[in-house]
Amino acid sequence: MKRYFFVENKANVGDTIRIEGQEHTHISRVLRLQVGDEIVCLPNDESTLNTKIIAIDKNSTTVVVESIEYPNQETKTSLTVYVAMPKGDKFEFLITKLTELGVKRIVPFESQYSIAKPLDKKDRYLTIAREACKQCRRTKIIEVGSPISFDELLSQIPSFDKVIFASELERNNALSDVSFDNANNVAVIVGSEGGFSEEEADKIIASGGLSVTLGNRILRAETAGIVVPAIIQFLLGEFDI
Ligand code: SAH
Repeated sequence: MKRYFFVENKANVGDTIRIEGQEHTHISRVLRLQVGDEIVCLPNDESTLNTKIIAIDKNSTTVVVESIEYPNQETKTSLTVYVAMPKGDKFEFLITKLTELGVKRIVPFESQYSIAKPLDKKDRYLTIAREACKQCRRTKIIEVGSPISFDELLSQIPSFDKVIFASELERNNALSDVSFDNANNVAVIVGSEGGFSEEEADKIIASGGLSVTLGNRILRAETAGIVVPAIIQFLLGEFDI
């Protein structure tokens, strides 16, 4: 089985790369790889570098690049998911699952009924995002945005071609009726356990969010956070090959 590791810089065939920090520890102490072993290095630019280990010392692993591939796993349409910060470790769960679904960016926001305060645990989120990425063989790490206020969320809505707002208060519009023709930059807004107040829902719609229902059953925040992006990726043809 090929092993995947993220590296800091792009490289060409024949270049050597020094890997330090967490990825070096993983290579040398956790997996106990040896000189001569082949690993795949990911510079986070959608390329994969097939490399061979040529040296391992206390602080770094050195590899030489033997070939480069561009597997083209990123989606054509860029999808950003805004989630009202859910409780416990559900945000971390969403980072992992949305990585698998090919989402470009996940951003937590504050809302009236969300109990959890958004925390900016950048390093921890990056580690989770990187591991999720390697596991699903994705070449680009999902971006985890810093927490934003509800007003900032409203101000970002106009920057997208289409913003799908999953609202438990909506009774008419269905997600299946939405057309994604010519939409290159799409966003999704999902609430936390507490959902949205009517005032918040009105403001999102007034800013350009398209309110949709997911039917008569109320989904948990983390379920809606996965299901809505998954349905949109399906409608965009991203589950095809
Ligand atoms: N506490 C709320 C439910 C919140 S569910 C209540 O009891 O009414 C968490 C989030 O998932 C919601 O804010 C919404 O974004 C999404 N969601 C869950 N079920 C939904 C449905 N049937 N239609 C649209 N959105 C839904």
